[in-house]
Amino acid sequence: MIAPVPQRSTLDLIGKTPLVLLKGPSEAAGCEIWGKCEFANPGASVKDRAALWIVRDAEAGGALQPGGTIVEGTAGNTGIGLALVANALGYRTVIVMPETQSREKMDTLRALGAELVLVPAAPFSNPGHFVHTSRRLAEETEGAVWANQFDNIANRKAHIESTAPELWEQLEGRIDGFTCAAGTGGTIAGVGLGLKAFDERITIALTDPHGAALYNYYACGELRAEGSSVAEGIGQGRITANLEGAPIDTQFRISDAEGLEWVARLLAGEGLCLGLSSGINVAGAVALGRQLAAQGRQAPRIATILADTGFRYLSSLYNREWLRAKGLPVFPWLD
Ligand code: PMP
Repeated sequence: MIAPVPQRSTLDLIGKTPLVLLKGPSEAAGCEIWGKCEFANPGASVKDRAALWIVRDAEAGGALQPGGTIVEGTAGNTGIGLALVANALGYRTVIVMPETQSREKMDTLRALGAELVLVPAAPFSNPGHFVHTSRRLAEETEGAVWANQFDNIANRKAHIESTAPELWEQLEGRIDGFTCAAGTGGTIAGVGLGLKAFDERITIALTDPHGAALYNYYACGELRAEGSSVAEGIGQGRITANLEGAPIDTQFRISDAEGLEWVARLLAGEGLCLGLSSGINVAGAVALGRQLAAQGRQAPRIATILADTGFRYLSSLYNREWLRAKGLPVFPWLD
């Protein structure tokens, strides 16, 4: 047994996540599908990376001073990442979140000591939307910076500088395609740009949930949403600064039912307990693998993101009553 590399700071625990070959998805696609275990970050999601890069960028630019406050609007995971980075560096956090997000995320934020401000879910055009509320709170708070994850490209830089090189190294420079869904777009754009810099022939695919506008944007240039999704943290209606210039070669649209099916199969078949965005990402990776194989690529090798832990959704995704109320299939072992 090899001893793990010792780390000097809890912040050094962010990133360098394991990569796992997903057996069921690989068999379904007839190729290799690899999952980047972002739930292994200390905040249990991919957003720890963006949080660290945003805070380091604000420090470097002088906007964040010792004892300062970080304010952010988030579906939850970025807030959790920011709160733990802030605790490690001696900052305060104020997190604005829509009240529709999971109970577990709210409890986690409170447990970490963040000041939690819940607002009703509202369209982006409404001044009460969580993003606008967080900007105003940052403006009104002395010594505060607004993390602004959607339009602050320190977010995608995290993936250009960490996630993409990690994938390239872990797959020993042999990777044919990458796909994931977009919330801010930091992951897809950053990993896409980072991987293309290693090899521009790598296919970058956006996997969009229903209810988001990006599938149509990349398919036909029109930002138009159809349907809806209960997935948290993904689904975007505009081209954020992080998405500008993202090298998207192709796109897939995945329903909640398809995503849930993979969540169930990964849980029962491989012992991975994940959130719905990960299930949607894996469904997209299977679609991308099949597409590349159909185009004649020999045994394509695909990577995707296992974005957060399912333990964050025990009262929703893994709860029989919740699934029934949403009209979603109930995992047989919960029925
Ligand atoms: N999955 C989950 C669970 C998330 O919280 C997020 C972040 N909003 C994403 C996926 C999408 O990541 P990004 O913001 O980098 O597009």
